[in-house]
Amino acid sequence: MADIIQLLPDHVANQIAAGEVVQRPASVVKELIENAVDAGATAVKLIIKDAGKTLIQVIDNGKGMSVTDARLSFERHATSKIRNADDLFQLNTKGFRGEALASIAAIAHVELKTKQEQDDVGTVIVIEGSNVVSQDVVVTPKGTSISVKNLFFNIPARRNFLKSNAVELRHIIDEFHRVTLVHSNISFTFFNNGSETFNLPVSNYRQRIVNIFGTKTNEKLVPVEEDTEVLKISGFVFKPEFAKKTRGEQYFFVNNRFIKSAYLNHAIVSAFEGLLKNGTHPSYFLNLEVDPQTIDINIHPTKTEIKFDDEHTLYAILRSAVKHSLGQFNIAPVLDFERDATMDTSYNLNKAGIAQAPKIEVDRSFNPFETSKDTVKQTASSSYKKQESNWEGLYVGLESKGTMSQHDFSEVQFESEETVSSLFETSEEQTQTNSTYQFHNKYIISSIKSGMLVIDQHRAHQRILYEDFLQDITVKVGVSQQLLFPLELHFSSQELEIIKQLKQDLEHTGFVFSNVTEESIEITGVPVTVPESEISIILEQLISDVQNEVPDANFSATDLLAKSMAKSLAIKTGQSLQKDEQEHIVNKLFACKEPNVSPTNRVTFITVGVDELDKKFI
Ligand code: ADP
Ligand code: MG
Repeated sequence: MADIIQLLPDHVANQIAAGEVVQRPASVVKELIENAVDAGATAVKLIIKDAGKTLIQVIDNGKGMSVTDARLSFERHATSKIRNADDLFQLNTKGFRGEALASIAAIAHVELKTKQEQDDVGTVIVIEGSNVVSQDVVVTPKGTSISVKNLFFNIPARRNFLKSNAVELRHIIDEFHRVTLVHSNISFTFFNNGSETFNLPVSNYRQRIVNIFGTKTNEKLVPVEEDTEVLKISGFVFKPEFAKKTRGEQYFFVNNRFIKSAYLNHAIVSAFEGLLKNGTHPSYFLNLEVDPQTIDINIHPTKTEIKFDDEHTLYAILRSAVKHSLGQFNIAPVLDFERDATMDTSYNLNKAGIAQAPKIEVDRSFNPFETSKDTVKQTASSSYKKQESNWEGLYVGLESKGTMSQHDFSEVQFESEETVSSLFETSEEQTQTNSTYQFHNKYIISSIKSGMLVIDQHRAHQRILYEDFLQDITVKVGVSQQLLFPLELHFSSQELEIIKQLKQDLEHTGFVFSNVTEESIEITGVPVTVPESEISIILEQLISDVQNEVPDANFSATDLLAKSMAKSLAIKTGQSLQKDEQEHIVNKLFACKEPNVSPTNRVTFITVGVDELDKKFI
């Protein structure tokens, strides 16, 4: 039989290799900026069009390349950064594989212009899908400019796989942060679709963080410094009160290289122990310096994971350094014996307060010129006194009602139906006819004519809020409550960009923005259903939902906003509910258009028929 093994042609091999290096436009941005840094640039400019799908260009004032090097730089495994395997353990450059330019050129249209200081003219090379289209002499300033157009032009599947511009841009900005944070001695500018998104002058580390994340960041920072034989730490953590619900700014750099490490993250989290609110994550910007001999950065193609020789020691040092800083800056809680005891509320009262779901009933037919009407009825709950368990609620209607084999929703009848209109009244008789029961602080059980209804409280409430918000946004009737004091919230510029996009819809839900600047927004009104303490959490959640949005045909900003707000505000699993709250949820759920599923398509309730129960007792 004839031999069948062949060597792959270079352009095919490059295309395959490209898949590892270039996953998306952000990977190109990373490689090009890193090359600029490696070339000793003091100023780097990044230009992006259409989230990198149309253009990614990086211009630097670094050392440039000779004619031969310019040509060679596109060969696979062509690098000026290492010469032998030993060099791998003495790395002080970002790149070393010599794969980036070859990979990028294999799957895009690339133009390179470069000139070294001592030369009068430079070189321009145009490459498309690994083919050199032209090479010429060019007048160009010292340094290198690489433009990458039509990424994945020859791999349609890859191109189609790209996410929406918002998502791709988010990834690009992430990469931009990761490089710019550790090189505050280099100035960076970033132009997105022609407008300047970041302008980061040469500065110290603290200023760089503030320049990227906004001036308000400054007061959040607590410095962390530690110098030991094996590890040098410098950087900042956010004060615990600024911990975020979503994993926000968490940056580790090892020898100036961004890395991810769940293990080291754990060290930080444990240093914050007792200081963070449940479900929040600390933010940090920490640079670790270790002997390059003690790490292996070669285990991941895109190099965000690294292997340490002695992780345990690093963990311990890191944890104690962060703990020490938090303590030094008086952030750890102190026992305060002089506190006025009358300020303390009793445990019971606190608990009852927390257990209250936002319950404000709004009269949509309110006419402001009619003086006699109550507009907003705050239903102060007096019902938390009545704690007797209501097992009997389970049995209501089970004994004598006929069986209904198929659970057609339209036939579902509620025992409590006649009380719908006066749901919030808590007269004695009413509590006597209880027909709901909360199970494990998770499910609401109610009896229906045909049997038993088990409702997931969190999902059900999400559905209710979702439809309410959707209605408010589309009908534009969200009712607003004015804040006593305007609330100023600070965001990074790309976060603000998202808020601006959604501003109108947010206003329809009842938000009132009085001032939107480059880095902050001022809020003077919020939807009546939103407690003031939740405002920032809701907006943070919203921003992160938009950022992580996976676009599909049905994507709409309105929908996302309604979903996100519903998710943030819905009663959580584990929250104990008063009787009236349980009934409110049951009634509101079944007044929804699609009560069967949550906004994310999860089942909200199940029914267990009397016949099913009967069978179990045979
Ligand atoms: P690596 O960075 O791993 O060496 P690359 O494919 O990214 O591989 O680059 C190949 C070579 O091209 C680099 O080693 C460097 O010598 C040269 N090069 C790339 N970008 C630049 C630049 N912006 N300025 C100067 N030289 C560069
Ligand atoms: Mg490189």
